[in-house]
Amino acid sequence: MQGSEGQQVSKLQMVPVPKFDPESAFGYLVRQVDFGPRAPNTGAHEQCLAYLQQQLTMYADSVRLQRFDVPGYDGVVLHLTNIIAHFNLKSKTRILLTAHWDSRPRADQQPGGPVDKPIPAADDGASGVAVLLEMARGFKESLPPVGVDIILWDGEDYGREGDMNYYCLGSKYWAATKEFSYQPLFAINLDMIGQKGLKIPKEGYSVQYAPDVVDLIWTTAADMAVPQFVDRTSDPIYDDHLQLDNVGIKAVDLIDFDYKYWHTLQDTPDKCSPESLAAVGHVLLQVIYRSLNTYPYFRYER
Ligand SMILES: [Zn+2]
Repeated sequence: MQGSEGQQVSKLQMVPVPKFDPESAFGYLVRQVDFGPRAPNTGAHEQCLAYLQQQLTMYADSVRLQRFDVPGYDGVVLHLTNIIAHFNLKSKTRILLTAHWDSRPRADQQPGGPVDKPIPAADDGASGVAVLLEMARGFKESLPPVGVDIILWDGEDYGREGDMNYYCLGSKYWAATKEFSYQPLFAINLDMIGQKGLKIPKEGYSVQYAPDVVDLIWTTAADMAVPQFVDRTSDPIYDDHLQLDNVGIKAVDLIDFDYKYWHTLQDTPDKCSPESLAAVGHVLLQVIYRSLNTYPYFRYER
């Protein structure tokens, strides 16, 4: 592999990246869950939105809220908001990082039968956001060599089981209204990456639509000997990344779907760990900070 100056870049050569503090990341997870379930049209949803906006405003070059209303079930109008933050605005070469911040409004996988109550969504929601907040803190400390955009999706987990039209509402709205000129190199979506004993396989649609980006991430994880990224392809999962693929953005979904507490009231912080969040954060920081000189096929004019 050739470096930017034509010298050989060692497979194991790491570039300096900002510190990713596992405990700080875990604190972001707990803080979100402490608001209560962030199901649409609830007070906890509104309060958490204000918190996330305020946190990102501390770290990003700019933050904006994309507010939109969509029809939900039973005549309800959902008031939803995507939170969009930009880092290193001067760079034309951009990488998009995303996660959903909403909580599922019902516990349809509850052992003993479905319960019509929103879930705490520690892993299925707060974990991805927590990693992105901790990375954002790092971007402020040391500006990434490429532009980075973070979008926190709303309304990902609203749909009733099997009713895909009502899933991924935030990413669908964003994709439908995307500016034509916005074309990041690739996108990485984080979902359910906080559980203890995390194991992230290569998600099926990611392998199909963004094989080179999957390769970039898993090669980096292997270089760093991060065991949470396992060399196995999983079934395809319908998630926010597909909405990006639909508008021509190569997207990878990092997800460990094998989670005992999925869509239950037991999806709480004690099932998650700082180490799992840090495994993802460390690999993604390395991907971003060395993307320009280690992987020639991702090198673009700045
Ligand atoms: Zn979910």
